[in-house]
Amino acid sequence: MLAVNLRSFRQKVRHHKKELKGFLSKLLKDQPAGMDKLAASLEMDVWKEVDCLTCANCCKTMSPTFTKTDIKRISKHFGQSPEAFTKQWLRKDRIGDMLNKTEPCQFLNLTDNKCSIYEIRPVDCSGFPHLHKKRMVDYIHVHKQNIEYCPATYRLVEKMQVAMKGGKG
Ligand code: SF4
Ligand code: SF4
Repeated sequence: MLAVNLRSFRQKVRHHKKELKGFLSKLLKDQPAGMDKLAASLEMDVWKEVDCLTCANCCKTMSPTFTKTDIKRISKHFGQSPEAFTKQWLRKDRIGDMLNKTEPCQFLNLTDNKCSIYEIRPVDCSGFPHLHKKRMVDYIHVHKQNIEYCPATYRLVEKMQVAMKGGKG
């Protein structure tokens, strides 16, 4: 596994995001046969390359959505009421989702990039970056957003593009 270099990742995003997003739009429209199988096999290669503990860009730059159950579970862990927890850490966005007030996430330990509430983290965090889905097509809109923040998502889409052109990722 390689350490993630976020600086060079951001540069790659700047240069290639339009092209990769266009590729994802095309996948959504055409949905080629074997797409899910290909994504599943390439995902394994992605995780051999990307070490999340050298990255944590999701926790640094995005907020998970906290469900009511997440809030109940996490606030209990801190001996707080859900209301007090919400008041301290969360805000409501324009569609009513509960998000972190600040970035990086208050539960990220910046010295080692580990989540300090890993065992009880929001469900949204445990599923992120949603690469291992049965039907990739349901998550293409998610990948389109995450490609700018998540090196693993970026790499998966890049590998798929190369594989579909008949090359090596
Ligand atoms: S709760 Fe943990 S995994 Fe989720 S964003 Fe915060 S630090 Fe990251
Ligand atoms: S899920 Fe993506 S953004 Fe988050 S730490 Fe792993 S590679 Fe980085």
